[in-house]
Amino acid sequence: MPYHYLLLHPNIPKPLHGMPPRELLSHSWWNQTKAIAKAKFNACWSCGVSPSKAKFRKWLEAHECYSIDFNMGQVAYTGTAALCHGCHQFIHDGRLLILLEKGEIKEGYYLSVLAHGNSLLKDWLGIKTPFIKRPFQANEPFCYHPEWSTVTKFKPLEWKFNANLPEAQWEDYQR
Ligand SMILES: [Zn+2]
Ligand SMILES: [Zn+2]
Repeated sequence: MPYHYLLLHPNIPKPLHGMPPRELLSHSWWNQTKAIAKAKFNACWSCGVSPSKAKFRKWLEAHECYSIDFNMGQVAYTGTAALCHGCHQFIHDGRLLILLEKGEIKEGYYLSVLAHGNSLLKDWLGIKTPFIKRPFQANEPFCYHPEWSTVTKFKPLEWKFNANLPEAQWEDYQR
């Protein structure tokens, strides 16, 4: 702790939207899993802030983590992390962009979520790191970046994409 690499968690591939374990398993399983994750450090697993000092909301949110192979279309649930709102929404920037385009969130909020995550990544990886998210666009998963496999700090990592191989198509994802 903190597990900075959680900020690199990709947006969930579209074919799997609406299918998280929390919806497939029981309410009590999900409530228990969330409670265990939040109690583990009583702080954001990514940036280490305690809920009372967090910027956007004074509580932790639960994020379901997956290993994803973007060539094979293989996704596996690997556990649930507790994150502050800023770190959590940074991971879900694709969803935030959709909400922004629909006018459901404010631009200032969207930009400050991206700035929150980007500044943590720069602190961790260096000011010139290419592993940041750009606003107002759909950011590719970080593991699509050619330098992904060269950053030793990232290992062991659970997200894979090889640009020399075809990308998994919609129907490749197991439902
Ligand atoms: Zn955080
Ligand atoms: Zn999440």
